[in-house]
Amino acid sequence: MEKEEEMEELKKAFLTYCKKSPLYKEGTFPVFGEGALNARIMLIGEAPGYHEALTGRPFCGAAGKILDELLDFIGLEREEIYITNIVKLRPPKNRNPTQEEIKAFSPFLDRQIEIIKPKIICCLGNFAAAYILEKFDLKDKIKGISRIHGQVFIHNSLFGKLRIIPLYHPAAAVYNPNLLEMLREDFRVLSNEKQG
Ligand code: URA
Repeated sequence: MEKEEEMEELKKAFLTYCKKSPLYKEGTFPVFGEGALNARIMLIGEAPGYHEALTGRPFCGAAGKILDELLDFIGLEREEIYITNIVKLRPPKNRNPTQEEIKAFSPFLDRQIEIIKPKIICCLGNFAAAYILEKFDLKDKIKGISRIHGQVFIHNSLFGKLRIIPLYHPAAAVYNPNLLEMLREDFRVLSNEKQG
């Protein structure tokens, strides 16, 4: 089956699941993820916020503006990468996702990774970093994002060498210029890795 068909099938199952999720709210949208299905780089965030739930698109609010600036900084277009979240419905009042919510949505993220087969996964924030490092046998590397951001971890996956780069969540930089500077430096790491 082609990647497009596989992703469409997954999306259908996902939308059916969302209607049964305790996070489902009439009048808002699930945020499945979007981008190139043959992307070398996948970005994984935490969960949709207010703007994302209104549009169904990942990173389209204040954090998204920062993300766009960072992508621009290293000359990457959104269309070249795939962007999604672990939890794909908005938690009320943007609270942190619970472990149950992460577990409930994880099969969809796992399958998205399987379909896309990225070379690089950037984890935006603690929740994405912890989930991805554990999934790819790097549990011993899980530490607070302030200790592991910008590092490159390697996993030899079934679909080849996978590089995992934890990054600060762009939302953390909305009011913090120091973090924004660190994010820029970490995006330089991504920029160097993407050549390889
Ligand atoms: N924060 C996230 O983690 N994901 C989004 O899509 C938007 C904000």
